[in-house]
Parts: sequence; structure tokens; C-alpha cells
Amino acid sequence: MSVKGKTVLVTGSTSGIGLGIAEAFAAEGANLVLNGFGDAAEIEKLRAGLAARSKVTVTYDGADMSKPDQIAAMIAKAEKQFGAIDVLVNNAGIQHTAPIEDFPIDRWDAVIAINLCSSFHTVRAALPAMRKKGWGRIINIASAHGLVASATKVAYVAAKHGVVGLTKVVGLETANTGVTCNAICPGWVLTPLVQKQIEARAKTNGTSVEHESKALVAEKQASHKFTTPEQIAGLALFLCSKSADNITGSAYSIDGGWTAQ
Ligand code: NAD
Repeated sequence: MSVKGKTVLVTGSTSGIGLGIAEAFAAEGANLVLNGFGDAAEIEKLRAGLAARSKVTVTYDGADMSKPDQIAAMIAKAEKQFGAIDVLVNNAGIQHTAPIEDFPIDRWDAVIAINLCSSFHTVRAALPAMRKKGWGRIINIASAHGLVASATKVAYVAAKHGVVGLTKVVGLETANTGVTCNAICPGWVLTPLVQKQIEARAKTNGTSVEHESKALVAEKQASHKFTTPEQIAGLALFLCSKSADNITGSAYSIDGGWTAQ
């Protein structure tokens, strides 16, 4: 089963991992629904460039993943245009770091809403059409923090553990329907989300960004190497292949040995 001609919605695909996944699926001939924030002109350039390079249909929906009504409207619009969403990639995410006593309540609410609740809302809305077609792939971008914890990341770790749990339940509820649901758990990937954390460390420690970049990866990952968006996209494509038909409810690490320790 190739993804050529299928419709793929990647939440948070204007940057980083989501953009890498969107590019890889378009290169394989899938139509895309892009989503995420950013400068409108830049997003339009991205959308048109992807469509022209890959000769696929690419649309953009600016739905805010913290807003259930906007999520429902995005799925309904995509289904109206394409018939169904064949592959749903729940990727949008944000980070906030602070000890729990200092963790702002509004940041807790935002991280849980965008990193966890959005996946409940997208799956709930997109699953009926997948069931009807008898084929679908739901891929949730969780994190190494869906399996293990780090200090100062209470909301992120809670949300990502929640995503792994949601993945298991959806995997069970869709068993033998042609739909599968799996999570990908990346370690460090050098995207704007992580760049901000590296810069904050350099400021706190009075060191260079380059030094903190190396130190951050070495602290957690045996490989001492960042995972790339392209590698994550490769795993997502594999989960859409025939070989992966019987893989569901699983969480796949791609973390240079982080969670092996
Ligand atoms: P990023 O900041 O580069 O991209 C995040 C994307 O989500 C952007 O397109 C942004 O516009 C979008 N987004 C943010 N808030 C949104 C909202 N309310 N509604 C719609 N879109 C919104 O980050 P990234 O590193 O590419 O992260 C992507 C996913 O991968 C996240 O779920 C993150 O938790 C996960 N992840 C990242 C790493 C890493 O090291 N970078 C590791 C493990 C997991």
C-alpha cells in the first residue's frame, strides 16, 4: 500500500518535524492538508512550493489546535474536499519548562490542550470516515517524554504520556477495521522548539549555544546525535506501508538510545 493519491493531514506542519513529514508524504504522491501557525505569506509560499514540486494538491488550514470547534471544522472541510483523511498525523505541540510550583496555570492548560487534547478531537472527528473506507493510519508524534520523564517538564511529560495511552486505546478500538494507530517517540530533534531550550540553557549557564547543543543531546542520548525530521518521516511512511498492517497501539522510539537506559 503506497500513500500515492491518499490524503494526509499533518497538524503543526508549518515548521520542524511536521513540515519534514509533510514534505516526505508529498514526495510520495500524497495530497496534503497543512496546519500550523506562522506568517501568512510564508505559509502560502510553502504550500504552493510543495504542491508544485510534488505535483499533489496541498491545502492549508490555520485551525488552532487548542480549540475543539476549529479542529472539528478543519476535519469537516478536509473531508468535504478529499472524501476522507486517510492518514492523520497528530504533530502540533508546544513546550514550557518550569518547576511545578512555578508552572503558570495557563501554560499547563495550553500544553495539555495542544499536545494531548487536540489528538482526542482530531481522532474523534476523522475516524468515522476511515472506518467507512476500511483503511486509515493515525500517527501520533509523542516523545521520549511519553515514556520517561525529565524535571521541569510536568505538562509536556503528562501530555505525552497521555498521547501514548490514547494511542493504545485507539489501537484497540480500531483493531481489525483496516485502521491502525501508533505513536512515534522521538528523542531530541533540532527544531525551533528545541532551539529555544538550547538558547535558554546557554543564557542560564553563560555558555555558547554550540556547547549547550552538544551537552543537551549527550545528557540523554547514547548516540550523541539529534534525530532528524526526515528520519521521523521515514518511520511514519513505514507505518503506512503494507508491512505495518498488523502494527497498532504501539509506541516507537527513535531516540538514539535515550529510553534504552
Ligand atoms: P516546532 O515548534 O518546530 O513546530 C511545532 C508546530 O506546531 C508548528 O507548525 C506550530 O505552528 C504548530 N503549532 C503550535 N501551536 C499550535 C496550535 N495551537 N495550533 C496549531 N498548530 C500549532 O516543533 P517540533 O519540534 O517540530 O515539534 C513537533 C512535535 O514533535 C511536537 O508535538 C513535539 O512535542 C514533538 N517532539 C519534538 C521533539 C524535538 O526534539 N523537537 C522531540 C520529541 C517530540
